[in-house]
Amino acid sequence: MNEINAKKGKIVIISGPSGVGKSTITKKIVELIDEASLSVSVTTRPKSMTEKDGIDYWFISKEEFQKRIKNGMLLEYANVFGNMYGTPKDKVDEALEAGKIVILEIDVQGGKQVKAVYPDAIMIFILPPSDETLSERIENRGRDSSETIEKRLDGANAEIASAKQCYEYLVVNEDLQQAIDECVQIIQQLKTKNIIS
Ligand code: 5GP
Repeated sequence: MNEINAKKGKIVIISGPSGVGKSTITKKIVELIDEASLSVSVTTRPKSMTEKDGIDYWFISKEEFQKRIKNGMLLEYANVFGNMYGTPKDKVDEALEAGKIVILEIDVQGGKQVKAVYPDAIMIFILPPSDETLSERIENRGRDSSETIEKRLDGANAEIASAKQCYEYLVVNEDLQQAIDECVQIIQQLKTKNIIS
């Protein structure tokens, strides 16, 4: 048995455009599924007023990020809207060995990298009900400058097109509770099919 098959857990990748409600959905999934554990990414993006280091992200310098890439410490990484984001490899390995369902809330570039290493990872993409709702949500959260909002909206369409090609599950977040239920059901199926012990 190779190193990957010997691991007991399972990876679930959750992606979607900025403002689609991914963070809310993933936090709920972790609350509702006992075995689920959310991976905390590292990023070079500045911390917003409401975010906490080690909870929302590990906020690190560009130099530290490059060092981690060089030392093979990241399972995947990508430049998203001009900042670097990556998944710490050791934490994912630990959680998989403990039989956890590891939730990675990452972008499509990262999702594809993870799928190449873990072909049995489940890929879920969260879609907005319409383009208009997405721009409203990004603007209303009041976190980004107008330049960043524009970048995020441009990126969203490209990301949606790419995800439709390679993500196994597309979940539309029109009604938040329904989107959460759908994601939970997809993940619970892994257990009933005995894909996870
Ligand atoms: P935000 O700045 O809004 O928190 O995140 C911007 C984008 O980066 C989101 O699409 C988010 O899913 C993605 N992201 C967050 N963490 C990671 C990561 O570790 N790797 C990759 N590839 N993308 C990430």
